[in-house]
Amino acid sequence: MQKLLAQTTAYGEHWLWATSNQGLARFDGRQWTLLGREIGLPGTNLIGMQLIPDARGRPILWLGSLRHGAIRVDISDPLHPRTLPSDLPPPPDLTVVGALADGDGRIYLCTDSGVQQLTPEAGGFRVRVFTVRDGMVNNECNPDAQLIDADDRYWVGTLGGLIVHDPAPRKPDHDAKPLILVGVRMDDRPEHGRPVVVPPGQHELRVDFALLSWQQEGLSRFRTWLEGFAAEPGPWTADNFRDIGSLPHGHYVLHIEGRDYAGNLSQPILLPIVVTPYWWQRAWALALFAVLALAVLYGLLRWRTLALQRRQHALERRIDARTAELNKANRQLQELARRDGLTGLFNRRWLMEMLQPGPDGLRKQHGGLVALIFVDVDEFKAYNDRYGHPAGDRALRCVAEAMLEHAPGDAIVARYGGEEFACLLLHTGPDVARAIAERMRVAVAGCNVAAPGDAVRHVTISAGVACQLLSPEDDAENLLREADEALYAAKHAGRNCVRLRAAGPGSLVMK
Ligand code: GH3
Ligand code: MG
Ligand code: MG
Repeated sequence: MQKLLAQTTAYGEHWLWATSNQGLARFDGRQWTLLGREIGLPGTNLIGMQLIPDARGRPILWLGSLRHGAIRVDISDPLHPRTLPSDLPPPPDLTVVGALADGDGRIYLCTDSGVQQLTPEAGGFRVRVFTVRDGMVNNECNPDAQLIDADDRYWVGTLGGLIVHDPAPRKPDHDAKPLILVGVRMDDRPEHGRPVVVPPGQHELRVDFALLSWQQEGLSRFRTWLEGFAAEPGPWTADNFRDIGSLPHGHYVLHIEGRDYAGNLSQPILLPIVVTPYWWQRAWALALFAVLALAVLYGLLRWRTLALQRRQHALERRIDARTAELNKANRQLQELARRDGLTGLFNRRWLMEMLQPGPDGLRKQHGGLVALIFVDVDEFKAYNDRYGHPAGDRALRCVAEAMLEHAPGDAIVARYGGEEFACLLLHTGPDVARAIAERMRVAVAGCNVAAPGDAVRHVTISAGVACQLLSPEDDAENLLREADEALYAAKHAGRNCVRLRAAGPGSLVMK
């Protein structure tokens, strides 16, 4: 037997009720009757018992049970007790030790997992559960250890000691409750150092904290902010821990905030965390990498610059070589342009250019007395007709060689056209010029022109010499005409001779 209870009905009848581990026992004055499932009990292992009239004054037995929570039995008619439907709010534990009601109708159910307070309200009960989170020293109540005192305070003995709850309205709670750091674990090992130093690599941090409000801790809320990683705090949640995965190296501060059931904010916890870098992430290593990168860059640039310089020098050398070749070709071209193809002498164009007045003419450089020898091969048409043109050409080359041989080094010996030649002599007077012409004539006359077979032919020339004092601005027309006239005179005199046209009009001197 667990609990004994006496009932006196409205008609003055007396009954005894008792709970047992086999059901509810009723004593009518003569004998005990054991009541069980036949009256609707869900189970028969009963503990505490309390008679609590309901709102309409009906006597209701509140039974504690080992496995079925609180069971209510209406004993308005003790002969026919009736188990009420189990429509109570579910208790925190199915082992309910007993029930107790205070003066305001609040019912306290004492269980193995805290005390459930049921406050009657329209249509049912408002529920609140007290556990160690609300300040109880232990959650498990002792059987038959509850009491409501004269001030309606609820007392209960637990396995850990006595607790008391005063349901009277209290002054508003504005007290900030202590927020404490329960522990920090890194990869499941406790971490006591502050700041928490996390080595480089993959590491899991878990930070546990608690808000010591000692009441309604289920309504406590927390939020955290990892400064240095997140821009702002996270949402308020009931989680009293924070997991932190791998972080980039750096300095962080974990802000932990808490507020109690009444919204009172606690003093936040600031937990510094330092994630150390790998050696290659440290400043000196980064500086070293930067220096190495710069050195490599400098080396590449230097190499590129040298390669470009080498290419440029090679290009310059090629350009120089090409320019030299071009200059040489130009010079050759210029030389060819002023030479006669058959004899190699200067041509008429070059002779005339030299005779031109102006800065480029030969006279510009020398000026002064100038002599001109005009040479014409005698009866050359006949020579050609007789021996053929190739022989004629050879004869012309003989004339050219003879003239060159006897002309001074600075003279210009030119083929004037066909079988006519000219020799321009600078700073030369008439006598010297005539003497030179004479030496030429003699040389040509003595020249052996090769002919087919062993035959040798001879040609003669006639020469006209003119001489004039020319300023750089004067043209050479007169000189040319006079030399031509002198040549004509030589032809007229019978050929193979030299005639001089002395300076001054009409002064033709023949020799
Ligand atoms: P003269 O003594 O009066 O000067 O008589 P000539 O026959 O020399 O004069 P002409 O003007 O009648 O003839 C000149 C000839 O020179 C005609 C031409 O066949 C010849 N001749 C001109 N140029 C060349 C040449 O390059 N080679 C050869 N083989 N003959 C040429
Ligand atoms: Mg002629
Ligand atoms: Mg001739």
